[in-house]
Amino acid sequence: MHDTFGRAIDYLRISVTDRCNERCLYCMPEGYKGWAQKADHLSAAQIVAVAAAASRLGFRKFRLTGGEPLIRADFLEIACGIGALPGLHSLGVSTNGLKLAPLARELARAGVRSANVSLDALDPARYRRITAGAVSAVLAGIRAAQAENIFVKLNCVLMRGVNEEDYRPLVRLSAELGAPLRFIELMPLSRTDVLTGENFLSVEELRRRLDAESPLEPLPDYRPGHGPARYWRDQATGAHLGFIGAITTADFCASCNKLRLTADGKIRPCLGRHGELDLKSALASGAPDALETLLAQAVAQKPENHEFAENYQPSRPMTAIGG
Ligand code: SAM
Ligand code: SF4
Repeated sequence: MHDTFGRAIDYLRISVTDRCNERCLYCMPEGYKGWAQKADHLSAAQIVAVAAAASRLGFRKFRLTGGEPLIRADFLEIACGIGALPGLHSLGVSTNGLKLAPLARELARAGVRSANVSLDALDPARYRRITAGAVSAVLAGIRAAQAENIFVKLNCVLMRGVNEEDYRPLVRLSAELGAPLRFIELMPLSRTDVLTGENFLSVEELRRRLDAESPLEPLPDYRPGHGPARYWRDQATGAHLGFIGAITTADFCASCNKLRLTADGKIRPCLGRHGELDLKSALASGAPDALETLLAQAVAQKPENHEFAENYQPSRPMTAIGG
């Protein structure tokens, strides 16, 4: 499908839960406890039904996220259902990696081919301060996923004065593992207080810094996983470094190819704008094509750009929307 700006939309990112086993500084709002009612979440069968409708419209790429998707007890049922869709091009998961080691084999069997693993710091104390988790479990998870031939990418959110000392060690790890590393600009999602002039670090500033230390060569045609990152290769180590500059990259939205399905059954045309369409009545109606009609409406409503630069105030946590 194409939206009104001529972009091909074939990627559905699905938040399967708004809950998480970490508490990242920039993501989980203070005191947030998730929904009182788990019944607000879509069931596994409903999620697969939405993905199947998207697939009939030509969507070929699916990513399961959250919150932390791997804490959902029926996660494998969802992955298997989507993994079996005809014409599927890719099924990935975005995870903090804590539960990746015990689940990697079953994920691969279910059809998961890629994992984006959040890794904001390698230093165990800093990792714990940022996320409240244990970095050793994440590293074990990454290696377990790679052992199952799951393609791993690493995600690091940039925070000036918080994890700057970790960027070079992460580049080295990326080269060692053969896993592309993406640096992500802090966005005003879930909470705005963490995104201040003091701790915001743009991808361009970091790219220049890394380039000055060790030259980077642009890779204009490299686009693993069809995400928004622009890639460079660190010539010294061979690491593939992606830069996701949602705030400062002028034409960031030009390559947008996705819709989001929220954990509570809303279709969100844009991460950085508030509009959502409610899928629950379409799911309940059972009418033929009801889901396809709603998904097509959401594609038609995709705005040209996000509105982060226009004093955007979050109203829904990132965990519900699906990062
Ligand atoms: N729990 C999984 C994880 O951490 O990868 C999946 C969900 S998380 C919301 C998905 C991605 O969103 C992660 O890479 C995380 O770092 C990123 N993220 C969350 N809040 C963010 C923010 N305020 N700015 C930039 N990226 C953010
Ligand atoms: Fe949880 Fe991921 Fe948000 Fe961290 S970024 S709190 S791991 S959902």
